[in-house]
Order: sequence, then structure tokens, then C-alpha cells
Amino acid sequence: MALTRLLTKGLFSRPLTEPAPPIEEAALKRLGERLDVAARLRLGRSLAIRQVDAGSCNGCELEIHALSNAFYDLERFGLRFVASPRHADVLLVTGPVTLNMREALLRTFDATPEPKWVVSVGGCALDGGLFAGSYACAGGVGAVLPVDAHIPGCPPAPEALLGGLIALIEANTRRSGSNR
Ligand code: SF4
Repeated sequence: MALTRLLTKGLFSRPLTEPAPPIEEAALKRLGERLDVAARLRLGRSLAIRQVDAGSCNGCELEIHALSNAFYDLERFGLRFVASPRHADVLLVTGPVTLNMREALLRTFDATPEPKWVVSVGGCALDGGLFAGSYACAGGVGAVLPVDAHIPGCPPAPEALLGGLIALIEANTRRSGSNR
């Protein structure tokens, strides 16, 4: 009887999922196009990113994944997530670096062709964040690798991720012209 009541309630009640947040489509389009132009000026093609979870809680990953979902659909601006560091321009690293991931992160860095950029994402990647001082963590990403840019937030929203990538590429384009 209790099961019938539960099923009936499930059939007729409203879904528990929250509506998607409002999105500024025009602002997002402007950001995406800016990133595409900066990447093509700097690299002559779109930007290839290898994401590395060095020990995150997965909150940062959810926002990074959102860049490719149907809602944001950043691939329309040429942003590409690649499976191999050998195809990447940017290593996007999240989380405090756990001791278990330290070696894998170093190997991923070594496997990425020069020149390459390391971007740390989220408070944990900056200095260990919530996990700073843990016996299981080496510290922030900067404790293991040279970091070129940091995108703050816990977790940073997709717009902040885009803004951080644009700032990185535009700064490097200004510094060295269009020669990679
Ligand atoms: S910065 Fe926040 S969301 Fe990202 S890994 Fe740390 S606790 Fe999780």
C-alpha cells in the first residue's frame, strides 16, 4: 500500500530538479568568439585542452564539463577537450594535488609538447583549499608544476573559466606576437 502511495505521489508531483540557471547567450557568444580569435591568433587554430583532476571533489569538473554540454556548447567556438596530453596546448588542472596523483600529473606535464600552459582551476588547485595541510596532499598545483594562470572559484562558473582562458591567451599573444 505504501508503495502504491509512493508511486502515485511520484507520478503526480512536480520534478525535484531545479531549473537551469539563466544564461546570457549574447555575453557567452562574445566570450566564446573572443577566445576563438585569441587562440587562432596565438596558435593558428582552436585551443586544445587536456583536463587533469589531481584530486578534486568533482565540483570543478562539473563546471568544466558544462562548457561542452548542449547548454553552453563551447565547441561551436573551437574550444576542444582532448584525450591525450600529446595533443594539448593547455593543461587545466583541478583539485589539490594528492600524493597519489602527483606522479601522474608530472608525467602528463612531461607528455605535453612545448610550449604549453598550465592553468589551475578552483581554490583547491591554488593552495590546497579545503584540503590544505592534509597528509594525503602535496599542496596546490603550483607546488608540483609551474602554473601560468589561475582561475579562482569554488567552483568557478563556465563564464569565469572562459574569461581565465581568454586572459591567458591574450596575455601570451601580446607578449610574443603571433609566433608560438
Ligand atoms: S575548488 Fe571547490 S569545487 Fe573545486 S575541487 Fe575544491 S572544493 Fe571542489
